[in-house]
Amino acid sequence: MLVVMKAQATEEQVRDVCRKIESLGFRAHPIPGAQRTAIGITGNQGALEAGTLEEMPGVGEVIRVSKPYKLVSRDVKPENSIIRFPNSHVAIGGRDVVIMAGPCSIESRDQAMTIAEQVARNGGHFLRGGAYKPRTSPYSFQGLGEEGLKIMAEVREQFGLLIVTEAVDNESLDLVEHYADMIQIGARNMQNFSLLKRAGRSRKPVLLKRGMSATLEELMMAAEYILSEGNYNVVLCERGVRTFADHTRNTLDLSIVPAVQRLSHLPILVDPSHGTGKRNKVLPLGRAAIAVGADGLIVEVHHDPDHALSDGEQSIRPDQFATLMSEVKQIAAVLDRGVVSPVSTLKPMFT
Ligand code: PEP
Ligand code: MN
Repeated sequence: MLVVMKAQATEEQVRDVCRKIESLGFRAHPIPGAQRTAIGITGNQGALEAGTLEEMPGVGEVIRVSKPYKLVSRDVKPENSIIRFPNSHVAIGGRDVVIMAGPCSIESRDQAMTIAEQVARNGGHFLRGGAYKPRTSPYSFQGLGEEGLKIMAEVREQFGLLIVTEAVDNESLDLVEHYADMIQIGARNMQNFSLLKRAGRSRKPVLLKRGMSATLEELMMAAEYILSEGNYNVVLCERGVRTFADHTRNTLDLSIVPAVQRLSHLPILVDPSHGTGKRNKVLPLGRAAIAVGADGLIVEVHHDPDHALSDGEQSIRPDQFATLMSEVKQIAAVLDRGVVSPVSTLKPMFT
C-alpha cells in the first residue's frame, strides 16, 4: 500500500500518518518527492484497510501497489533518486555520470596507491577494489581483509577518491561500513537475504550487483530488501549474466538499463569488466553502457594486469582508462549529460 500525500500536506500531517501506520503494526517509509511525499507501507501481509488513512488530513489517496516490489518502484517515487555522499560533490543518479575504477583486489599498499593515482589523475571518482574477495576456488587469493580497507582509507586521504568495496558477510560488512563510503554487495550475494537486511540497516549507500542468473524482478526484490530496512541509498549494477556465449566471460545485458529505469527510481551503473571478462571488450562495452543511459561505470584498472592477483585478463591499463574517460565524456554529451567533475586536482597523465 502507498499513501500519496497532497502536494500542500504539512510535515506534521506526514508525521501523523506515519505514526498511524506504525500504530497499526506496520512500517512507514516516508519518501519525499518533487511534487509530494509518498509513504510506503511495508510489513502488511495482505491488503490493509485503507479507510482510516484515507480520512486523515493531508492524505491525497491510498493506493494498492500491485507489483511485488514497492519502495524501489516509480509508483512510490516518480523522479530519479540521487545518491549523495557527505562532504563530497559526487552524486550518483543525477545529470552527470560517475566513474568507479580500480583493481579487482587490493593487493598491497603500493599497488593500490599506484592505481589510485592514475584513477584520480584521469578523472575517476571512486576507487574500487576488493579487500574481501568471493573466489570460485578456496585456494585463490582471498583479499587482504581489514588491512586492505585501511589501505583504501589511506587512498581517500591521499587522493580524495571515494571508496567502494565489497562486503561478503555480516562480519566484513561491519568493517566495510566503518572504512568505506559505499558498500558493494557482489553478484554471488545478491540473494543473501540476511546480508541484504544488514546492508539495509547501514547508513552507508549500497552498490548492489545483479546476480549472474538474476531476472530483473529478482534484482528489484533484492534492492527492496535493503530499502525495506530503511536504507534508501541503493545503486544497482549490471555486471553480465551467464549465457551460452563463450566469447566472453558473461553476457553484458545492457537492455536491463532502460528496463530498470522504466520501473525504478534507483540509479544503475554498468560493469563492463565482469560483464565481458576480456580487456579488449571493456572500452567498447563501457562506451555502449553510457550510450544506453547508465548513470556511470565501475571498471577494473591495473597498472600491471599480467601480474594481478585476480581478474587481470579483464583489467584495463591506466592509459586505456584515460581513453575511456575521454570517450565517456563525448558520449555523455550526446545525451545532454556530463561527467561529474574530478575529485582530484592532479593533472592527467595520458592525454
Ligand atoms: C568485483 O567487483 O570484483 C566482483 C567480484 O564483482 P561481481 O560480484 O559482479 O562478480
Ligand atoms: Mn573482479
